[in-house]
Amino acid sequence: MSDYSEIIARARGIHGALADDLFDEFRGFLHCRVCDRREGLTRDAMARYFKVGWPKCHDGTMTWWTRNQIANGDAPPSPQETTEDGQ
Ligand SMILES: [Zn+2]
Repeated sequence: MSDYSEIIARARGIHGALADDLFDEFRGFLHCRVCDRREGLTRDAMARYFKVGWPKCHDGTMTWWTRNQIANGDAPPSPQETTEDGQ
């Protein structure tokens, strides 16, 4: 099991390493200002975005709201909060 983990860690390379650091610190979710679409952000998704480009929706790059911004009330409601509140 640990052998596989090591191999996977190496294969993920710089994008995976970046995602590991940034995801732990910032987390949060993505948001489109035009259609109000919200997407939860995972570590794996973040690694992919660093590699292939940040996701776009409508005419722009999706906004990344971090957990600090969410905690400060600067962000729109996150997808998780929306689900938990049943709204
Ligand atoms: Zn959109």
